[in-house]
Amino acid sequence: MNILAISDIHGEENTKLFEYLKNNDIDLVLISGDITDFGPLEFVDTFINKIFDLDCDVIAVPGNCDPSGICNAIKDTEAICLHNNIIYYGDVVIFGYGGSNPTPFNTPGEIDDDKIYASIYELFAEYEFMANEDAKKIKILLTHAPPYNTSADLTSSGDHVGSQGVKKTIHEFQPDISICGHIHEAKSKDKVGITEIFNPGMLKNNGAVLIEINDDDLTYNADIISLE
Ligand SMILES: [Zn+2]
Ligand SMILES: [Zn+2]
Repeated sequence: MNILAISDIHGEENTKLFEYLKNNDIDLVLISGDITDFGPLEFVDTFINKIFDLDCDVIAVPGNCDPSGICNAIKDTEAICLHNNIIYYGDVVIFGYGGSNPTPFNTPGEIDDDKIYASIYELFAEYEFMANEDAKKIKILLTHAPPYNTSADLTSSGDHVGSQGVKKTIHEFQPDISICGHIHEAKSKDKVGITEIFNPGMLKNNGAVLIEINDDDLTYNADIISLE
């Protein structure tokens, strides 16, 4: 099974994405938020349906620059809005949380960092309570906000502005993979404990994360790729 993760579309389609999906066998596209640039929500329908037409499933979380109503707009396309929720997809379990910790720009999808922490903690705790130890799953945390003090949250001015809540839950629950976005210039791969952290950067800059899973033994390889 192959998963491609993208982020920060901001209302700008990238034809290289569609070409890539046409030429490669991708089962699922993950979107880490900021699908629109403060709207319009009609773009969500246009963009996601183009991905569906290439025979991929879509799971998305909202970003801080998406207006309220974004989850309904995602669901109207029959994609899954995974904000504050968990989904099983084959051998993978995905924990989703959208929005971002507060920014200086007073954007629509900002959430108190303590609330981000408490909510993601709940998702992981619920999973661990229910999980069948014998049925191993690859755990993916899909957020818009990057974990604090990693290469994924480093701005061009040299400041780390990510979410301490996201970082704490990674420390405590150690998912296999953390996919985020939000800091456009921080396209990167990093590691916290055993967790591989990826920020694919803005879609218009051709970054994506490819996760190739061997369905026989559940080994996987994840890396940043260029859609060029
Ligand atoms: Zn963005
Ligand atoms: Zn953002």
